Amino acid sequence: MIETTVCVIGAGPAGAAAALQLQQFNIPCVVVDKAVFPRDKVCGDGLSGKVLTCLNRINPEIGTRLMEFQAKQGSWGVTFVAPNRASLDVAYRPVYDKAQEPSAAGYVCKRMDFDNFLVDELKRCEQVQLFEGQSIDKYELQPDGYVLRDNAGTFVVKAQVVIVANGAHSGFTKEVAKITMEPRHYIAGIRAYYQGVTGMHEDSFIELHFLDELLPGYFWIFPLPNGEANVGVGVLSEVVRKKKLNLKKMLQDTLEKDPVLSKRFENAELLGTVDGYGLPLGSKRRTLSGDRYMLTGDAGYLIDPFTGEGIGNALYSGRIAAQQVKAALEANDFSATQLKKYDDEIYRVLGPELQLSTRMQKLVQRPWLFNLLLRIGMRNKQLRELMSCMFYEVDLRKRLTRPSFYLKLLLNR
Ligand SMILES: Cc1cc2nc3c(=O)[nH]c(=O)nc-3n(C[C@H](O)[C@H](O)[C@H](O)COP(=O)(O)OP(=O)(O)OC[C@H]3O[C@@H](n4cnc5c(N)ncnc54)[C@H](O)[C@@H]3O)c2cc1C
Repeated sequence: MIETTVCVIGAGPAGAAAALQLQQFNIPCVVVDKAVFPRDKVCGDGLSGKVLTCLNRINPEIGTRLMEFQAKQGSWGVTFVAPNRASLDVAYRPVYDKAQEPSAAGYVCKRMDFDNFLVDELKRCEQVQLFEGQSIDKYELQPDGYVLRDNAGTFVVKAQVVIVANGAHSGFTKEVAKITMEPRHYIAGIRAYYQGVTGMHEDSFIELHFLDELLPGYFWIFPLPNGEANVGVGVLSEVVRKKKLNLKKMLQDTLEKDPVLSKRFENAELLGTVDGYGLPLGSKRRTLSGDRYMLTGDAGYLIDPFTGEGIGNALYSGRIAAQQVKAALEANDFSATQLKKYDDEIYRVLGPELQLSTRMQKLVQRPWLFNLLLRIGMRNKQLRELMSCMFYEVDLRKRLTRPSFYLKLLLNR
């Protein structure tokens, strides 16, 4: 049996951030992932500004290494396409000059590469013991810690506290924290990689196509290095069930029959298979901690309900969990009462954005309203900022929580 202070289950963005922050505090931890890296994860591969901000906060050297990392594609903005097919380009920064300032506000990086970058960072850490290819499937709370085991009972870890970071299908979340999937708060997503899609923006804007039948979800095309693109569809599970949607067929039909997109995909080649995975949304407040555990990232249902962005929130939540481990160690208290401070901090930091995005998600369910918003956006700088900052600028997002912002928006129409 391996004995440790902290066991982190999962080495994706949430688990990696937790372990990297624990290293900064000099707190030893064991990280266990059932996969062997590099491994794929179904995702849009979009990295928002939050990703770099959080990694820099953990350790600026990691941020510098990510900037030097070659496998990512810089992106300078978003193209929104409304249900009526009107489109609006919104740059992340109102004025930008790629020659003067080559660093972009956003990136697209295959998770195969990005998650492996994070795991390589873990391998640099003296206090982190990483086990790949080992699964944690059983959890037993004892008076002095959690005993965690694989199904066979051959791999056993005992830890004073557990950081649960094993993603959207976390057994711990269901069995111990008793949080179950609710179709109203969950997105079904599929992703494909393509080579040779034409008509991409010259500054690698990511594209969000809010097609009628997908609302409040969308179809996306995100540009990758080497002429590849991440293409996918995400739709609220409630809508998928109600309309009995077959997302893979919808993707295929859209690419073959849509008058605009079919031309752009005429000579495009599908690389590999079309794969699906769930997005647990933070559109509802939940209890994320209990005796000796904290739920982070997708295991804590922290994906932004409007943008579908989860990597940034996974990193933030992992870092916050590590901070709470430090506080719990200092207090020598791993009780649910002590760890409730994790929930308080998560909802203090991420809560306002999650609430706002929940409102935005409801707003765009109506195609006519979305068409109208886009029409206003074509003339209104503030609304364009709102739309771009939904994705990339955390500080700008704070403005969105002020009612005066909306008042000004309406008055300036
Ligand atoms: C179709 C789709 C598109 C998306 N697009 C974007 C996007 O463009 N941008 C964005 O920011 N977010 C996007 N997301 C969300 C994003 O993928 C997640 O929010 C993010 O991966 C969460 O990170 P995590 O570390 O919590 O979980 P994960 O990345 O899922 O990592 C969990 C880790 O735990 C391991 N694990 C699982 N079970 C066990 C076990 N029993 N024992 C040990 N290890 C285990 C897994 O192997 C994995 O490495 C998308 C999601 C989907 C499905």
